[in-house]
Formats: sequence, C-alpha cells, structure tokens
Amino acid sequence: MKINRLCALTIMAVVLCACNKEQKFTYNVDKFYDLEILRYEVPGFDELTLQQKELVYYLSEAALQGRDILFDQNGRYNLRIRRALEALYLNYPYEKNTEEFILFEKYLKRVWFSNGIYHHYSEDKFLPEFTQEWFVNACAQANVQYDAAILPVMFDPAVMPKRTTQQDGVDLVLNSAGNYYGEGVTQAEAEAWYDAHKDTTDEPLWIGLNSQLCKDSTGAIYERVYKIGGLYGAALEKVNFWLEKALTVAENDNQREVIAHLIELNRSGDLRSFNAYCIAWVKDLQSRVDFVNGFTETYSDPLGITGTWESLVNFKDMEATRRTEIISDNAQWFEDHSTTNPIYKKEEVKGVSAKVITAAILAGDCYPATPIGINLPNANWIRKSYGSKSVTIDNLVSAYNEAAKGNGFNEEFMIDDDIRALYDKYGARCGDLHTDLHECVGHGSGKLMPGVSKDALKEHASTIEEARADLFALYFLADDKLVELGLLPDKEAYKAAYYQQMMNGLMTQLVRIEPGKDIEEAHMRNRQLIAAWVYDHCENNEMEIIERDNKHYLQINDYPGVRRVVGDMLAEIQRITSEGDYDAAKQLVEMYAVKVEPNLHKEILERYAVLNLAPYKGFVNPVYTPVIGKNGAIKDVQIDYTEGYIEQHLRYSRDYSNLPDIN
Ligand code: ZN
Repeated sequence: MKINRLCALTIMAVVLCACNKEQKFTYNVDKFYDLEILRYEVPGFDELTLQQKELVYYLSEAALQGRDILFDQNGRYNLRIRRALEALYLNYPYEKNTEEFILFEKYLKRVWFSNGIYHHYSEDKFLPEFTQEWFVNACAQANVQYDAAILPVMFDPAVMPKRTTQQDGVDLVLNSAGNYYGEGVTQAEAEAWYDAHKDTTDEPLWIGLNSQLCKDSTGAIYERVYKIGGLYGAALEKVNFWLEKALTVAENDNQREVIAHLIELNRSGDLRSFNAYCIAWVKDLQSRVDFVNGFTETYSDPLGITGTWESLVNFKDMEATRRTEIISDNAQWFEDHSTTNPIYKKEEVKGVSAKVITAAILAGDCYPATPIGINLPNANWIRKSYGSKSVTIDNLVSAYNEAAKGNGFNEEFMIDDDIRALYDKYGARCGDLHTDLHECVGHGSGKLMPGVSKDALKEHASTIEEARADLFALYFLADDKLVELGLLPDKEAYKAAYYQQMMNGLMTQLVRIEPGKDIEEAHMRNRQLIAAWVYDHCENNEMEIIERDNKHYLQINDYPGVRRVVGDMLAEIQRITSEGDYDAAKQLVEMYAVKVEPNLHKEILERYAVLNLAPYKGFVNPVYTPVIGKNGAIKDVQIDYTEGYIEQHLRYSRDYSNLPDIN
C-alpha cells in the first residue's frame, strides 16, 4: 500500500467551535441510521471571474459524470441494485407512508450514501430492514424488472459480506467484495502479476492503478484498463466531453497542460499520461481554481494498487491560505526540531505547498462522505522530485462545526467546564492547525533509509503513516514556535487539541464501532494507536482515566509531560518508517490499535446513544446553473443550495447514469 494519501481526517475532531457568525444558512439536511447529511456553503463563488465560474461549472460536470464508476468499483452488483431500488422508489403504486416503504427508503438513502451496499467506513455489508418477500412483491406490483442475482447479494448476510478485508490469514482479494479484481482472481495471482509487471525504473509507471485484473478461461491473468473503449469507457467519454470544455477556459498554460494530460489518460489509459498529469498538477500553484479527477486513492483495493474514482473541484481561499503558507515556509525548521533521530531527517525539505481551499463540488469517493484535507500526488518519486500539494478544505470544516453546535457531545464526554471552555475558545483553530501541520509538514517529513522499500510496512503502512503525520502535528501544536509565528494566540491553546485528540483516540471514536468488532479503518487505528501508546507510556500519571458517577473521563494532569511522550512516540514511529521495520509496526498496531476494551466501549455507546447524534456526516452538493446570454454564450453561473438529499441522488441517477449494469 502507498503511504501518502488523501486523509479522511476525523470529523469527530471538529465538534464545536466558538464562531460567532450568525447562522442563516441551513446546514442540516437529513439524518438516518448513523449518518447525517449536511449542506456546505461555497463562500467566494460569486467573486470569481466569469471565466473561473465557467471553469468550475465544466469541471463540476466532469466530476459528476464519473458517479457510476465508483458504484461499480465498490461491488459488481451495486449498479443493478441501485437501479432496481430507484425504479421501485419512483414507480411504487401504493401509499408511501407504510412502515415497510419507509424502511425501504432508508435503505436506498444508505445505498446512495455508501455508493453501494457496504458501509462507507466499516466496509461491512448492511442489510435491508424490509424482507426479501416484500421487495420481490413490491417490484412485481410496480412492474420493476431486476436481475434475480441481486437478491442474495442484498439479503443474505453470508454472501459477499465485506467490501475490503484486511483480515490476517485470508485471501484478501477473494474475500473482498470490491470490484477491483475479476471473479476468481486470487491474491497470489494478483500479486504475482503485479510483481511481474512492476516498473522498476526511476520514474515508474503505477502499473495497475487504472485497471481491473481478470482471469481468462485458461486461467491466465490479464488487465482490463479503465479508458475510453475499455472498462468504464462510457463514463470516461462523458468526463472527457466536459474536460474539453474546461480546456477552453483554463486559467493558464500550466492548467491547460493538466487538463490535456488527463483527457489523454482517459482516452488511452496510458500511465505515462498519468505521470505527466500528476507532474503538471503539482506544478500548478498559480491557478485559483483547481481539481482532482480520476483514479486516485488506493485504500479500497485490498492490495492497495488500483485507484478509486473520485473528483473534487475547488478554488483557493486566499485569506486562510496565508496560514498554511507560514507553516510550509517553516517546513525545514519543523524538520530540524522534531524529536526524530537526525539520520532519519530530510536534509532539505522541499516542495511542500499548502493552501486552504473552498470545495465547489464533491464526487466519486469524495461524496457524500468527504475528506477535509488532501495531500497528493501519491507517487513517491513525483513527490520527491516535484513536491506535493496539500490542502485543507475549509468550507467543509466550517459546515461540520456549524452543524454540530450545541449538540451536547462535549458536555457529556469532556471532564469539566475548564476544558470545555478551552475547547470552545481554541478547538476550531487547533483543529485547523492540526490538519495543516499533518498535511503540509507531517507527511512530507522524514526519509527512508537506503534500500528500504516504500511498501515495507505492507498492510500496516497506512496506519503507521497516518500516525507519523498526526504525531508530527501534535508535537508541534504544543511548540512555542506556533505562538511566535502568530498561528496560536497563547501557550495554553494547544491543550484544547491534546485533550480532544486523546479523548477521541481512547474513548469517543468508539462510537463508530459496533459492539464486539475490532477497529479496522486505518485512520481510526492510527488515532487509537497514538492515544493508547501515549497513555501506556505516561508513567508519571501525566494523564489518567478517572471514574465519576459510573462514567469514565480522561483527565490530563501534565500537558508538557504528555507532549514529551508524544515526542518519544514520533521518534519511534519515524524509526519504524525509515527502517521499514515491519515486525515493530505489526506489533504496535496489534497491541494498541485494533482491540477495543468491551466495557468501556459499551459505556461510550450508551452515553452517546442518549445524545441521538449521527457519527458520520456527508453532504449534498450545491447546484450550478449556467445563465446563457443572447449570443448563446454563458454570461454567468448561478449557485443554488436548495436541493434535498433524495432529489439530488435521483437527479444524479437520471442525468449521470453512464454505465451499463454489468461492466
Ligand atoms: Zn494523512
């Protein structure tokens, strides 16, 4: 698995903020199961030039055209299931306020949220709460045709139960329902194919990034490439149609080059175009509007090779970008002053660019659930030679903060008024800075020892890498340097972040785990790894968990002491990374990151249930509508925020349904 990737940083990290802005905008849209749907504002859109607005519009269309690709990557039955559900939803001939229809609607909303039938986070299959009999009968009444093969996939818990498994000792490919490999391909066959085709040149092609490995009738493995005329060609053709339009209003030559390489990649599937696209993209620091579109992150492939389709269109938030520029300007200072062994430090930290962006559209694997920060590209050799771009998506963070105001979470879980007051005052700012430090300097810090492969930590690579970036951020949040740089107002502020992060890692993130389950997702493992390791190594009672009225609370007695332990852990995690010490990584992850203490877990779930909150959030997108002038040209692009969750998905399924049921 690759180490530098888009970070779905915790949305639990931003719970409340002390923002005084008058709330006119309606952030809360819908709520079902463990999910809440929010709306995000796109401040500054109206101030863009007409050309920039047009560019946003065309890139947004290019983003939405890829929607079906993700459904199919998430499981080969997903498109058939989604279409059957939508047809039934639209054609159901009876009263829609019955108990069963309401359960059906909830299930459909969840399928949209997950881009398929697997929970977007746990990756477990979720089952309908209505019966198969009800569904079969209702489809018959509504005259909805469907492939009977979807029934066991939807209703039988034993059939394809997990989207991506990372379970030890099983065939990861055969036991993952994700559609990154054709039927019958084994892990050993896929790994052998990747090994045989691996590009070992200095500027390697990311073989397997944009293809599905399949087995032919003789048992030979072959590649189906994602390209026009190949797998997902019908959707990529539409994507290219809009990219061609975007090309005509690009802001500069560099951006034109980015778009042109992407068009060529979609056309030919040639990975040399992917490299050229990444390099041009990372060099484009001038454009106000920017975007990601294509096969990008590799979390969902059990072997971490093939990219999941996503798109994000955004533009620079000028004011907030200054904050991250200060951090990236001081990247070398942070590298030199971290607690890591000097032999693991980079002599020269370069190419860390940083900006704060405003998301304009979310699509593919960024929608409806979304990251709040991005660090790309993922190819290490490009990062080394050309640098990387790190962004924080500020308008999404604001939406989380605003929507969570006064929800009672901190009142329940934080130990006293003092820490709540500190958190209200500094929590949002510390959250922003944590993300900035994590993305702008955390991932980019440190180096591998000669001969150490970037794949050395294998299945634990992403947990360890996220821990490394988080620890780097945590360590420096408590540094006087941030006050000196004007990023934090005083030397107490960091305590808000320390308390929140440790509380989250030790206790409150468990609200996302079902009773009896282990922690599997890399970011969650990372957060528990840090909090539990630090807790274990606080030998002088720097922090403790106390019990009061049968409830457990985190109490931090010595913040500088906790910071010292954070520094120790950063040094060790950097050593593991630099040395490629797989055994140590495995031991740490197994000891601290995976298992959950059942009694504490039960208590947290009970306390959380009383609050009636949804642990996961996602968004509806705004709607962009071009205004056409008398000459037939676009004279403005209008933004509208009124579309609801169901309406949006039905419209997307109607207007952007580009792929056949079976691909
Ligand atoms: Zn990260």
